[in-house]
Amino acid sequence: MDSVDIIVVGAGVVGLAIAARLSRKYSQVLLVDKNASFGEETSSRNSEVIHAGIYYPENSLKAKLCVKGKHQLYQYCLQRHIPHQKVGKLLVANGVTEEADLANIEIQAQRNGVNDLIWQSKAQLKCSTPALAASSALLSPSTGIIDTHSYMQSLLAEAQNNAATFVARTQFVSAQANSQGFEVNLNSQRDNITLQCKWLINSAGLHATTVAHAIEDMPTHHIPIVHYCRGHYFSYHGKSPFQQLIYPIPSAHGLGIHASLDIAGQLKFGPDTEYIDDIDYEINPSLKAKFVNAITKYFPELDTTRLKPDYAGIRPKLQAVNEDFKDFDIQGKKTHGVAGLINLFGIDSPGLTSSLAIAEYVDNLM
Ligand SMILES: Cc1cc2nc3c(=O)[nH]c(=O)nc-3n(C[C@H](O)[C@H](O)[C@H](O)COP(=O)(O)OP(=O)(O)OC[C@H]3O[C@@H](n4cnc5c(N)ncnc54)[C@H](O)[C@@H]3O)c2cc1C
Repeated sequence: MDSVDIIVVGAGVVGLAIAARLSRKYSQVLLVDKNASFGEETSSRNSEVIHAGIYYPENSLKAKLCVKGKHQLYQYCLQRHIPHQKVGKLLVANGVTEEADLANIEIQAQRNGVNDLIWQSKAQLKCSTPALAASSALLSPSTGIIDTHSYMQSLLAEAQNNAATFVARTQFVSAQANSQGFEVNLNSQRDNITLQCKWLINSAGLHATTVAHAIEDMPTHHIPIVHYCRGHYFSYHGKSPFQQLIYPIPSAHGLGIHASLDIAGQLKFGPDTEYIDDIDYEINPSLKAKFVNAITKYFPELDTTRLKPDYAGIRPKLQAVNEDFKDFDIQGKKTHGVAGLINLFGIDSPGLTSSLAIAEYVDNLM
C-alpha cells in the first residue's frame, strides 16, 4: 500500500490553506476533493469580504482567527499579487436604537483588538455617500474584498511548488486507524484506492460531519450536528452608488443583507439567512420583495428593476435556528482522543478571512 504523510480531505479555501502551510514542512501532502476542481462549494459562493473581526465574542476562535487571519491575508495578497482592495465598510444605523447597537458593536470590536473604527455623522455621510440613508455609521477601514479564486489558485500553486499533490474527482470514503496513522479508502473516478497516512485532516466543509462518521474510532459524541443555512445574493445591474461595503446592524444568523462589491466593481446585495434541510442552491425569485424591503432601509432610491437573482451559498452552521452563537469547532487528539486526526466543523463565516490563521492553528495541533 502506498503511503503519504498527510491526507487533507476537501480543497476549499481552508483545505488549500492547510495543504499550502503543511507542504512547507512535510514532503508528502495529498489534497483530495470529490469535485472536478478545487473550491467549487462554499469557497466560491460567499461575499469575498475580508472581515475586520468586529462582531464575534471575544476569545472565541472566530474573533481570534479572523483578526489574525485578516492581517495574514492582506500580507499574503501583497506578497503573491492577489487582487484585493481594502475598500472599507460602513456599518449603518438609522435612529437611536440602532445607534445604541452600533455603540455596543464598537465595544465588542475593541475587545477583539479592532481599534480602528471611526464614527461618521449624518452630515459626513451625506457628503461622502449621498445615496446612503443613515443617521450615523461606523467606518471599518480594515475591511476589504478579495478575488477568492485567485487566492485559492495561489494557495494551490504554493502547495504544488512544495511537492504537495492535488487530486480532483477523488472522494474520501472511509478510514480505519492503525498503529501508523490511518488506512484511508478513496474513490477516484470510480477506482477504489487505499492509502496509508500519518495525519488525516478533515476539511470537508458542508460534509465534514459525514466524513467524520466514516472514520472508524472517531467517537460519535464529538461529532456535532451541522445545520445548512443558505444565503442568497441579488446583483445590481449598473454603476454602483457605493464605493464601500454597506452593512446594516447584524441579524441573529448572519450579518444582514449588505451591499458588497467584487474586485470588478460589481455591486451585489446579500446574503440573507434561510435554514434548509438539503444542499440546494436554488434562488426563488420571490425573495426579491424581502431584499427590496431590507435594502431600501439604507438605500431608499434603489431601482428595483436593476436587482436580479444571482447565486446562493450554504453555511455549515453549528447553531440551530433558535440557538445563540456557536464557534468554529476544530478538534485534535486532545478533544476526541484519536491520534493523527484533525476535524474542522462549522467553518462558516469568517472562514475565508481566517483561512491562513486556521491553517496555522491546525499546524499547531499536530
Ligand atoms: C453565503 C456565505 C457568505 C460568506 N461570506 C464570507 C465572507 O465574506 N468572508 C469570509 O471570511 N467568509 C465568508 N463565508 C464563509 C466562507 O465562505 C467559508 O468559511 C469557507 O469558504 C469555508 O471553506 P472550506 O474549505 O472549509 O469549505 P468548502 O469550500 O465547502 O470546501 C470543502 C470541500 O470539501 C470537499 N469534500 C467534501 N466531502 C468530501 C469527500 N468526502 N471527499 C473529498 N472531498 C470532499 C468539497 O467538495 C469541497 O470542495 C461565507 C459563507 C457563506 C455560505
